[in-house]
Amino acid sequence: MKKNIKFLATILIMMPITLFGQKINKEQLLNDIQYLSSEALEGRKPLSEGSLKARSFIKERFASLKMSSQYPDYTQYFDFQNRREGKVYENAANIVGFIPGSETDNLIVVMAHYDHLGRQGNNIFFGADDNASGTAAVLAIAAYFSENRPSHSLMFVALDAEEMGHQGAKALVEDFPFSINQVVLNINMDMISRNADNEIYAVGTYHSPSLKPLITEVSTGRNPTLLFGHDEPSTGRNDWTRASDHAQFHDRGIPFIYFGVEDHDDYHKPSDTFENIQPEFYADAVELILDIIIALDKGLIEL
Ligand SMILES: [Zn+2]
Repeated sequence: MKKNIKFLATILIMMPITLFGQKINKEQLLNDIQYLSSEALEGRKPLSEGSLKARSFIKERFASLKMSSQYPDYTQYFDFQNRREGKVYENAANIVGFIPGSETDNLIVVMAHYDHLGRQGNNIFFGADDNASGTAAVLAIAAYFSENRPSHSLMFVALDAEEMGHQGAKALVEDFPFSINQVVLNINMDMISRNADNEIYAVGTYHSPSLKPLITEVSTGRNPTLLFGHDEPSTGRNDWTRASDHAQFHDRGIPFIYFGVEDHDDYHKPSDTFENIQPEFYADAVELILDIIIALDKGLIEL
């Protein structure tokens, strides 16, 4: 009887957590995506005033979470040439935060690009879904792990210049602060805040089938619906293996999971705004991705 009371008490204590409580701070998440996609940040084109504001914002957040970094002021600077514009970009910047693991020095890199297309003429390409959504998710997930120490070391990266050919991701893997072989998994988020069918994809298990059972276990019955796919080489443009920054890790033989939605009508248009995201979908997606990372952080130790 005593045991039952204890059991009941445990259920009552757990209930608010499972029913109402979430691991991420939803209000903060929505404030963050709103700010990152606001007019003040003018579409976050590399080296623009808006991009510099985004950098400061992310750095301040990493600092407030007391994260360490392998780079001074959380910043990995890099240069690249944009052939289309015939221009060299100097001091583009990835923002890198670090949480050491409790059980292994092996790493999971959790990342999203923060750059977008900037201003073109009178138009601002706000890039709320692409990819203020992934960037704010990096902040939310980092906040969780700064309070709940992971087994693997986690590197959190807001990448620059994805839209100009994965330049930030290229710089990161080329000048990685550890042996790149210590990276056991790359998690990339790019466009995770809306979908009319309530679906989001986990891309990459075609290349790393051993990750699929754990992801299936966590995602079954959850919102949004998690689908696998978009990773088979025979499917041409439907294969998203090279669609975003995770491609640079894939090229080095590192397993990746890329989370993203199907393209929508506002994709790469000025109408990709905060008003057009789906707040519930987005918060649920970030919560789901976090739970998958928690499970893989533990599960990869045993695999
Ligand atoms: Zn993107």
